[in-house]
Amino acid sequence: MDFTNKKVLVTGGSRGIGRAVSQAFAERGAQLAIIYNSNAAAAETALEELPGEGHIALQCDIADPLQVASAVEKVVQQLGGLDVLVNNAGIGTYHPIDSTSYEDWQKTWQATISTNLIGPANLCYCVAQNMIAGEGGRIVNISSRGAFRGEPIKPAYGASKAAINSLTQSLAIALAEHRIFVGAVAPGFVNTDLTSARLASSEGDEIRAQSPFNRVAEPEEVAYAVLFLASEGAEFSTGTIIDVNGASHMRS
Ligand code: NAP
Repeated sequence: MDFTNKKVLVTGGSRGIGRAVSQAFAERGAQLAIIYNSNAAAAETALEELPGEGHIALQCDIADPLQVASAVEKVVQQLGGLDVLVNNAGIGTYHPIDSTSYEDWQKTWQATISTNLIGPANLCYCVAQNMIAGEGGRIVNISSRGAFRGEPIKPAYGASKAAINSLTQSLAIALAEHRIFVGAVAPGFVNTDLTSARLASSEGDEIRAQSPFNRVAEPEEVAYAVLFLASEGAEFSTGTIIDVNGASHMRS
């Protein structure tokens, strides 16, 4: 898969899956813009390690619609266009229904839906305006196995990912006539900061055993599916949700 001279925006490109996605695109010739929220040091390191020239990192809280609009404008200006958007940034805070106060329940639902659903929807909106006026493009949304399997201790997260699947399908239809192709990747557990505490806990062995490989995914394995959806030739796969869960959850 070749992305020479393609301009790619990856939200949350500074750590975990987003970092591996950015690296994979850059290794194949793309110019990257990575968005991070608060960890500037991680963004700087990720940026330095990208092969190739002309990559940029921007601070933007994707939960804030004004910051999203301004970030997309800057990226388009500085990269000279945009071919691919990867909506990767997301949060997953625990809020079990039987031990969370009503106040914290409100806060977590608001923050999760703002970051994991409305943020990506706003990025799709702003980027699509540019792609519609140009030559089209590709959007890949990072969903989760939890959209299909439930998330008992973080239900807002599961709901946000089910909604992003629906957003993916709606936009695949709405944007096809503009040559914008939209897909999603739904990983199971991946070895990142988001999951490190749970994987290191007594629950870790049970989580790894969910897959017949007896392990979780590495971020690079998720990145590979993202590359496919963004590649030349994948156009008719628009609207698809690719599982990357090591056969830990089957659906048909
Ligand atoms: P991670 O290691 O926690 O990294 C999250 C990234 O998103 C960081 O770059 C972070 O930037 C950025 N971010 C978080 N909130 C943001 C905001 N409001 N605005 C802008 N950037 C923000 O996460 P990950 O494990 O790589 O997960 C990436 C995506 O994959 C998420 O959508 C997650 O739901 C999904 N996913 C992960 C797993 C898994 O097991 N890890 C499984 C299924 C799906 P800062 O560092 O600056 O905060």
